[in-house]
Amino acid sequence: MTIKDTYDVVVIGAGPGGLAAAISARQNGAADVLIIERDLEPGGILLQCIHNGFGLEVFKQDLPGPSYAQKFIDEALSSGVDLLLDTMVLDITPDRKIFTASRKLGIKEIKAKALVLAMGCRERTRAQVRLPGTRPAGVYTAGTAQRWVNVEGYMPGKRFVILGSGDIGMIMARRLTFEGAKVERVLEVMPFLTGLTRNYVQCLLDYDIELQLQHTVKRIIGNKRVEAIEAVAVDEKWEPIPGSEEIIPCDTLLLSVGLIPENELSRKAGVALDPLTAGPFVDDRFETNVPGVFAAGNVVHVYDLVDWVTQAGLASGKAAALYAVTQEHKTQKKIPIRSGENVHHVVPQHICAESLKDADIKLQLRVKQPVEDPVWVEVRKGANLVARRAERYARPGEMITVTLPVKAYDEVQSADDLTVAIVKR
Ligand SMILES: Cc1cc2nc3c(=O)[nH]c(=O)nc-3n(C[C@H](O)[C@H](O)[C@H](O)COP(=O)(O)OP(=O)(O)OC[C@H]3O[C@@H](n4cnc5c(N)ncnc54)[C@H](O)[C@@H]3O)c2cc1C
Repeated sequence: MTIKDTYDVVVIGAGPGGLAAAISARQNGAADVLIIERDLEPGGILLQCIHNGFGLEVFKQDLPGPSYAQKFIDEALSSGVDLLLDTMVLDITPDRKIFTASRKLGIKEIKAKALVLAMGCRERTRAQVRLPGTRPAGVYTAGTAQRWVNVEGYMPGKRFVILGSGDIGMIMARRLTFEGAKVERVLEVMPFLTGLTRNYVQCLLDYDIELQLQHTVKRIIGNKRVEAIEAVAVDEKWEPIPGSEEIIPCDTLLLSVGLIPENELSRKAGVALDPLTAGPFVDDRFETNVPGVFAAGNVVHVYDLVDWVTQAGLASGKAAALYAVTQEHKTQKKIPIRSGENVHHVVPQHICAESLKDADIKLQLRVKQPVEDPVWVEVRKGANLVARRAERYARPGEMITVTLPVKAYDEVQSADDLTVAIVKR
């Protein structure tokens, strides 16, 4: 395969977001599409997610991560997408020049008529949550342990404590138990679960692994290797409660304390980032503030289900293809979407009212605090109700989607902004 100097659409990252964007760009008229991936194989982080639970929305099937990814890899290749693997994107410019480095091609410059950012996210580390104590071996992120166990065939330890009730940590608690390890405890500083309830039930409850809310690690103990951690209960301000300390012997501490969208490249291209999501501000077509630069998947905000990542990829690839073919930036009126009562963030952060003429627009959000009673998720223009959805509960670990229907066009196109809020039913 010869890599050209110019492509209609270039996608950075061959995870589920990037693969879907590339397929959709081809389906929507892009003559040539290239995915650039730093790894040796396409598929992104799904290659190490060998548990099931993927594809329930998109395929109505319960697939392991690699099987879900393979369906899109096959489709991308058969639809004529070029795939440049083992190649790191080092820099991008606002006019969509892409600078790559690889053993095969050295340093290469590629020009994109439209660019899709799909670099995924990375895990928060020990340094970012400032864990005190010595610095022995045996402190890893849950994703590192996932790669070792599922791909490399190593066990990182025998006796574990997991800090954080994020999904990767809970999934690894079960996985390590399958491999004969003892998971002593999962500690969570918040008063609620931060991952999906289904993972709590299937990965912790089913295996009698204890979750302690409002607890954290006060100190890591051990010189060469972790020997124990000191756990402590915290109050609502995360202050340790004196007298609640407990030493838990273990040889490994796994961290599942959040994911951060990978946006170093985005910044270089002048893409504005939302401090609430750490991802780009996007509109309903997933276009960023830089014309012709789109974004899809966990680079935008951390999704709970890969199926939504795929849907975002399909939407951004379609918009990128249209931009590439017409080279036209539609300067439509954009309506900001504000976060109201108990809403942490909403994506997209603004919408083009004109898009509502053709199709519904989905708004996705996360709440700040759990509400265990039935709620309305409401979208309002001032005091006027524009759309709403009933939910049995609202939890921070589970994304909520509320749809603006085509019939709301008249109301929406005259709005200065819209606000999304959680209201008790
Ligand atoms: C460690 C980890 C484990 C996870 N486990 C689960 C799980 O078990 N279940 C679940 O539902 N979700 C899991 N997730 C969430 C998962 O990331 C998403 O569901 C989904 O994979 C996101 O797709 P994506 O395409 O946005 O990103 P990714 O799948 O992360 O793909 C991004 C791709 O971009 C590439 N890339 C990044 N920067 C560059 C660059 N500069 N140059 C070239 N290529 C680049 C990366 O190598 C990667 O292949 C996990 C996330 C992480 C970080």
